[in-house]
Amino acid sequence: MNDIKLAVLGSEGVGKSALIVRFLTRRFIGEYASLSECVYRKHLSIDGRQLNLELFDPCSQVSEGKATLNDQIHWADGFVVVYDISDRSSFITAKAIIHLIRELHLGAAKRDADSQVFLVGNKQDLCHVREVSREEGQRLAAESRCPFYELSAAEHYQEVVLMFSKMVHNASLGGKSK
Ligand code: GDP
Ligand code: MG
Repeated sequence: MNDIKLAVLGSEGVGKSALIVRFLTRRFIGEYASLSECVYRKHLSIDGRQLNLELFDPCSQVSEGKATLNDQIHWADGFVVVYDISDRSSFITAKAIIHLIRELHLGAAKRDADSQVFLVGNKQDLCHVREVSREEGQRLAAESRCPFYELSAAEHYQEVVLMFSKMVHNASLGGKSK
């Protein structure tokens, strides 16, 4: 049995909880009052293999602390780094998080388990108030050697599922097995 640990990281309000809840329950609720971080667990079968998925949804207040972010990065095998296309500062934060992941995972412990990172520009439905162009997202992803998705937790259920499924698949190949 493979255990897959994924962390969804990014600034407060970019839609991390919305994306996770959408993936796990199909629903977009609108408000996600979470006062504490939490790990969702789901049993999956991919290509005939049984997987235990653990999805870490950080609480905003906690995830801003650098030490805790480091812990989250050490814990996970795969990362979905999210920004909000209508919020430039969240894009800058996403960039910093990706750099930190690359830096920490170059450490000996995970050198051969190539860390999986996806960059996600969420809230594509807000493109009329866009602050980050699609090209900028694509460029950052290319520089960081990671797949790029622009989507909307609110409106694109299929894309959200596809994105998480690809991440689980990649992490199950590249991540450590137990
Ligand atoms: P988190 O702090 O990253 O977990 O963000 P939340 O999931 O709590 O979402 C923050 C706010 O953004 C909530 O009001 C959500 O309803 C809203 N939101 C999340 N995803 C989308 C989206 O794709 N489009 C729009 N328009 N709003 C979204
Ligand atoms: Mg949240």
